[in-house]
Amino acid sequence: MTHGRSVDSAAFVIVDATPFHPVDHTWPDQPGDSGVVICGEQTVAVAEAVMAAASDDGELAIGESIPVKRGADGWTWLVAHRLAAREVPAWLVPGAEVKLRVDAGRRAGLSRGHTACHLASLALDAAVVDLWRKPIGADPLGNPDFEGRANQYSRIHIDGSVDEYRLGKSLRKAGFDSEGLAGSLTEREQRINARLAEWVSSGASSRVDVDGPSIIDRRQWRCALPEGEVGFLCGGTHVRSLAEFASIRVSLHMPDSQLLVMTTTVEPA
Ligand SMILES: [Zn+2]
Repeated sequence: MTHGRSVDSAAFVIVDATPFHPVDHTWPDQPGDSGVVICGEQTVAVAEAVMAAASDDGELAIGESIPVKRGADGWTWLVAHRLAAREVPAWLVPGAEVKLRVDAGRRAGLSRGHTACHLASLALDAAVVDLWRKPIGADPLGNPDFEGRANQYSRIHIDGSVDEYRLGKSLRKAGFDSEGLAGSLTEREQRINARLAEWVSSGASSRVDVDGPSIIDRRQWRCALPEGEVGFLCGGTHVRSLAEFASIRVSLHMPDSQLLVMTTTVEPA
């Protein structure tokens, strides 16, 4: 390991290379991995992996306290492992050789949740095509990009996700018929679920393409859907195949006329 440090009464450990996926503090949709750090007979639990950045002057910043944008000159981006314990154990010293083990079951559930979240958003775009009165930019399937225009919140959990879409004035100005959506929510939900069932039964392959080994290298999720291969920039983790799902289903709710909430639920195969 290279660093062990307590910041704001939490203990963090940084190593040369890690299999842990960190939460992205700028768009915290997927939680960071948990697991253990092992050194000989000793183990310590990792509560969550987070982003960190070290400046050339030796400053170490964690998560939201990182003062620069990714890629800024003079900073190296890292993954910090927030320990479940308040203090770094005495045996965990800089230079110690350690093994890291990710909680694989939790990671697999988060990967299913993340892939399902993307598929649900593509199926949602497809299910509201007729509600656009003006042309707008296209999503990876070529449909009007409702997700890109309206999504304001996305949280992934084990085997599911919750997405929120703002149906305010600016969306209406862009040509979206929010009243039309409110009047046909059940039918839209059925369309999305039918599309998701088709995609799941295709068993399509899914993968993450990476430009390099650093946590800030560009990553893209790609999935070979029956309509054609889709992809978009995504820093998260994903399944290898849609055969990992028994089903993906969504439910749509509008708590008020300005807000659409899509809840996605996975049943693993
Ligand atoms: Zn993503």
